Order: sequence, then structure tokens, then C-alpha cells
Amino acid sequence: MKSKRLMAMLMAAAAAAALSGCGTLISPDEAEESVQVFAMDTVMICSTYGENSSDAAFASEDEIYRLEALLSRTREDSAVSRINSGDAAAADEEVRALIEKAMEYSQATGGAFDITLAPVSSAWGFTEDAYRVPSQAELDELLTHVGMEHVHLTADGVELDAGTQIDLGAIAKGYASDVVADLYEKWDIPRGLARLGGNIYAKGTRPDGGLWRVGVQDPANPEDSNALVGVLELSDAFAVTSGGYQRYFEDNGKTYHHIIDPATGYPAESGLTSVTVVSDRASGGGTMCDAFSTALFVMGEEKALDFWRTGGYDFDLVLVTQDGRVLVTEGIADAFTLDEGSGYTCETVS
Ligand code: ADP
Ligand code: MG
Repeated sequence: MKSKRLMAMLMAAAAAAALSGCGTLISPDEAEESVQVFAMDTVMICSTYGENSSDAAFASEDEIYRLEALLSRTREDSAVSRINSGDAAAADEEVRALIEKAMEYSQATGGAFDITLAPVSSAWGFTEDAYRVPSQAELDELLTHVGMEHVHLTADGVELDAGTQIDLGAIAKGYASDVVADLYEKWDIPRGLARLGGNIYAKGTRPDGGLWRVGVQDPANPEDSNALVGVLELSDAFAVTSGGYQRYFEDNGKTYHHIIDPATGYPAESGLTSVTVVSDRASGGGTMCDAFSTALFVMGEEKALDFWRTGGYDFDLVLVTQDGRVLVTEGIADAFTLDEGSGYTCETVS
């Protein structure tokens, strides 16, 4: 058990809450305010309750657009694009702090998380939606520019070595969910939900007092968003899922997805098909969950669980393996319910 506090929060009503069959992804239909935003290449929904619900939801929308404009790698005028073209000072305090976090998480995960994979992602066509399989020679050359040692924090900015480019795509939505969580707090929102693609923040409880239900998608059925491995019941928590099924292409009968192993430059093949990281604000929030969901997908079952046990960070996991197993770490074991019809088996890990 990693987090007593988290466990208490998550377990509270989980035992009593009789789950009725296959859950759908949370539906905050009765929210007092709900804004839907398309940003960072995904659909985002911020739902809020309470007397300031409109203020909080619209402020969230504004912040999400602001962050997209700041962090997008495909927008020429973004801070990230300007850093990539050599303008170190384009990293204001906020961006610099986020890159510093990315460095920390990269180091913590033995380099599995690496924002300098940008040129490699581009070579595979994931950034530009122009999919192709790059040659080994091309990857070998690009990999010489990959690695956080090519990123330098200066007194007031971020400098990159020649040939190095950064992409904050694996952490930006998580960071945005932290900013939304701050706004929910600032506006005194008693309950609310933010769903930024696979990045979820659940505050308080549902209006009926029950916990928020977060579906863990079946990676083997990416086309059917109702196909679930199981459901997590959460309150005051972040849950972030990364999986190869979220973006991929096929070439010559082989599937290539968008999460890259920095060691090879190839899509990570670690035996995992999805990783869900659950934590709370005090332990690292959405930014940490987002970084680790990507990194642990690269690391695979054994290394991911070692990291959970000894990495010095407070979070819990739902791992889905290629061979049909679901591994749930003990801090959220009682919060997770396997979908009976899913065909998966479920084990608790301690
Ligand atoms: P998603 O963006 O689909 O929610 P992730 O958070 O896992 O999923 O981020 C994947 C994105 O991050 C990729 O599209 C790519 O831009 C970038 N990326 C790919 N592999 C890595 C990695 N090992 N470390 C950091 N960023 C990565
Ligand atoms: Mg991520």
C-alpha cells in the first residue's frame, strides 16, 4: 500500500456501491455547467456544480485554450515551437517549470519518459498525421539528438542542443487537468469532473453522493468506447490512461502506435496494452499521472511494478497486459471492478 490517504478516499464507498453491470464512461449529464472543448487533439469536457459552476467551467475553457496555444508543437507561435527554433527565452516561468518537471520524471523513470523524442515521433508521422515506417538509419541518426541531456535550463529559459526538439504531448493534458483542478478549487466547486481525453480529474462526489465512475477502456476493442476492462470509482483523484490503441497505423500487416521507446526509437512493445495511473493533487496530480502513464507503458509490467514499489512517488495503477490480465495495485483494488464480460482476469498487486 502506497498511499493511506488515497486508499481511504477511494475505498470509502466502493465496497457499498453495488455496480450494475457494465459501466459507461462517466456521464455528468446533470452537471450545472458543462463545457466541451476540442483542444490538444482530443475532446475535453469540464463539468461543474455549485453556485460558481459557470465561472469555473468557462475559466477552464479559457485556460485550456491558453495552454494549447502555449504548449502545442504544431502551432508555430507556441512557446514550445519557439523553444524548438532556438528562442530559449520563449520558455516563460510556467513552461520552464513544466519542462523541469518533465526532466524529473524522465530521470525517475530511467529515461522511459522523454520529451526529446519529438523528431522520432515526427519521423513516424504521428505529429503530422503522415504515417510511415522510418528506416533504421534514419532512426539511428535522430536518436543521437534524443535524451534529456540535450535540454538545458538557463536562468530564465530553456536551451536545446542543435538537432534536439521537444514535444510536451505526453504531459500537456495532465498539466491542463491540474490547472482545471486549481480553478475548481479557486471557484469553490464542491463537485465536478474534467475529462481531457484520457486524462480525468474527479472532484468530490456525484450529486447522488456516489463516487465518480471512470471506465478503463478495453485496449483490444479500441473502436468500441463502451467496451471496458472495468470501472474505477474515484473521488478527489486524477486518473490518466495511456495505451497504444489510442493512436496507431498499420503497415504491411503490422501495427505501429504512438508511444515510443526512447531506447529503440520504435513504438514500445512491452507486453502492456494500457496503463492507468491514479493519484491525487498532493502527490503529483495530473501532470505526474500523465508522465507516468506514458513512461510505465514503455517500461512494461515488471519495471512498472518495481517503480510503483520503490520509485518514491505516491500513485496506484491499473495495468492491462497483452495476454489478457488486469493488474491492480492494492491502493485502488477496492475501487476497481472488473467487467465480467470482458474476458480479462484480475489480480491485485502488492
Ligand atoms: P495521449 O497523448 O495519446 O493521451 P500520452 O500521454 O501517452 O498519450 O502521450 C503520447 C504522446 O507523447 C505521443 O503522441 C508523443 O508525442 C509523445 N511521446 C511518445 N512516446 C513518448 C515517451 N516515451 N516519452 C514522452 N513522450 C512521448
Ligand atoms: Mg502521458
